[in-house]
Amino acid sequence: MPIYEYQCEDCKKVFEYLVMGGKDPDACPKCKKNNIKRMMSACGFVTKGEGGQTVKASASSSSCTGCTAGSCASCH
Ligand SMILES: [Zn+2]
Repeated sequence: MPIYEYQCEDCKKVFEYLVMGGKDPDACPKCKKNNIKRMMSACGFVTKGEGGQTVKASASSSSCTGCTAGSCASCH
């Protein structure tokens, strides 16, 4: 089962969610609102590859919070 990263548009909380059955999370775990979007999971892999070192996907998520345009082209 894939784990996707989501960001709450409201409080900017970034969280990982284990997607089961293709079902997105209903609400932000922090503010309980449903103004959330799925982030590009490729962010973590890009960071790993370019750095040449092991970086946890969760640790790299902070650098991807600027992907408001839905693209990770500018976050690495
Ligand atoms: Zn929130």
